[in-house]
Amino acid sequence: GPVLELRGVTAGYGGDPALRDVSLKIPRRGHTAIVGPSGAGKTTMLSLIMRFVRPESGALLLDGREYADLPYADVRSRLAYVEQETPIVPGTIRENLLFTHPDATEEEVRRALGEVRLSDKIAALDDGLDTPLSSTSVSGGERQRIALARAILRTPDVVLLDEATAQVDGRTESAIHDCIRRLAREGAVVTVAHRLSTVIDADTIVVMEEGRVRASGSHEHLLATD
Ligand code: ADP
Ligand code: ADP
Repeated sequence: GPVLELRGVTAGYGGDPALRDVSLKIPRRGHTAIVGPSGAGKTTMLSLIMRFVRPESGALLLDGREYADLPYADVRSRLAYVEQETPIVPGTIRENLLFTHPDATEEEVRRALGEVRLSDKIAALDDGLDTPLSSTSVSGGERQRIALARAILRTPDVVLLDEATAQVDGRTESAIHDCIRRLAREGAVVTVAHRLSTVIDADTIVVMEEGRVRASGSHEHLLATD
């Protein structure tokens, strides 16, 4: 079955619902992209999945079990969230990587940096992992990949990325897309974007509008039916 499922979820912030009766299954592997204009409910969907927000009605399921029956820590330990504004803390690359999981092992750090293809880059820095993240020798795109490495330190089942490539140049965008493709072979990756062009290679595209799912399928499928 799917790793995540939304069943008739309605949710919001007290006024008009931001999501209206949304049902969606996220497969265990592959890249699911949620697209739609600003205000469509994409971020609210991620917030629900991360359990920052509770549904007014309907249910969310992780591995077929309702969130309501799962301890918060169980849900959160299996999900990783990369925010749109890369949350960088002052300090070194190592401190940033270990920020959420201070007890991660060297091996976990090595693997995560390999996944985002930063091992060579960091090895080439004079101070390696002890380089300040604010150093001019670390680019904006590299900082973003460090945030992604931090998110995957503990091999989550689902990685959620909010507008991962909204503010990056073309080269960084393609590096992040490569990371997404690799991660999607091993687990579920859910991305949110407002431009369809940035998610053309996703396995499934979910089109949202005014809090509802308007269509979903592969890019080819969506072109054929639209
Ligand atoms: P998207 O990510 O697609 O731009 P959002 O999920 O951010 O859409 O927003 C969906 C709707 O919920 C919008 O009408 C937005 O104004 C509203 N909304 C989002 N966050 C909040 C919040 N914290 N408080 C009140 N309303 C919100
Ligand atoms: P962890 O992943 O170890 O729980 P986080 O820093 O991600 O640590 O979250 C700590 C707390 O902050 C959680 O209770 C979470 O609900 C809340 N939180 C984190 N990010 C957001 C966000 N973008 N919106 C709302 N709450 C958040």
